[in-house]
Amino acid sequence: MIDPEVLTRLVLKYSVREEGGAVLRRYFRFRADRWYGGIATADVVGCNLRCGMCWAWRNSSFRLDVGDFMRPDVVARRLAEMARSRGIAQLRISGGEPTIAPRHLLAVLKSVPESYTFIVETNGILIDRGLARELAGFPNVVVRVSIKGATPEEFGAITMSPPHYFYRQLDALRNLVEAGMAPCRDVYAAAMIGFSTDDGVRRLKEALSGIHEALAECLDEELVILYPHVVKLMRARGLRPLRAVAPSGVPQSMI
Ligand code: SF4
Repeated sequence: MIDPEVLTRLVLKYSVREEGGAVLRRYFRFRADRWYGGIATADVVGCNLRCGMCWAWRNSSFRLDVGDFMRPDVVARRLAEMARSRGIAQLRISGGEPTIAPRHLLAVLKSVPESYTFIVETNGILIDRGLARELAGFPNVVVRVSIKGATPEEFGAITMSPPHYFYRQLDALRNLVEAGMAPCRDVYAAAMIGFSTDDGVRRLKEALSGIHEALAECLDEELVILYPHVVKLMRARGLRPLRAVAPSGVPQSMI
């Protein structure tokens, strides 16, 4: 079993450092991306999970010594400049887990002009009540908690981490809603259902409704994207998706 706490410590050791009172993280790329109708994206190094369908595994999750250490104000400025030059209104950190080194993330959010919407894409494992309150304090932040699988068993198969961490992701949603973020507007759930049965998806929606009835309605269902390097990783991990799309977005039959 892979321990997310150990992975967090590894990221902190190799991909995070303090300099002049600021917390720096490694980033391996800045890009404008098509998701959400256009979003300026900074790809951060390091994650506390090892998902078997992760598109970023080569550049980020499995190597922690790539990319450059960057100050939070520099990350915010590069994102805002890219967005301004391309006429994009949304920003995000992707490629790894942004809530590792929360002081860095919060400093990025403070440095971003409020005219931009910042989407915090996270697996939610590290969002406790304190961090949820901090995130809820930003009027321009939307948190997207991406749940790995629809059940604890699927979470374990996808991540090779103890299945009980699945509930941390639901706790993150609960903490964010209780901190005052409006479900489906300020915070919503996504779920990797590429390995899920219909019954598993039903159980997940029940669990989301138990936190707030609206969360099940705006669930963003993620499918496996069959990039060649993702297919290679899934083979190595013995994972067979039930629902997938080609990199072009065309649904693929997995029968
Ligand atoms: S949580 Fe996201 S970045 Fe981390 S391993 Fe899973 S898919 Fe990759």
